[in-house]
Amino acid sequence: MAVGWSRDGAVQEQIDATVEAAVQLARSRLPDGESLTHCEECGVGIPEARRKAMPGVRYCVRCQSDLEKSQKAVTLYNRSGNKDSQLK
Ligand SMILES: [Zn+2]
Repeated sequence: MAVGWSRDGAVQEQIDATVEAAVQLARSRLPDGESLTHCEECGVGIPEARRKAMPGVRYCVRCQSDLEKSQKAVTLYNRSGNKDSQLK
């Protein structure tokens, strides 16, 4: 049996898993993980359906889209070709 080989593979797998976990952690940290019942920005009630659809949601649709617009304005330079999805 190629024990050395499978060890290398396991190490590589572990590295991949660690990177993936770090990415997931970073992502899960951006929203709070806990959905708010009312918009943090304007205090409007957030519908339960929206809270379920977007775990960690903190803003109403309106504030969220405002926020995303300002975020996209910053990241737009890095992501080309993503513009069409905004035009729905
Ligand atoms: Zn709001």
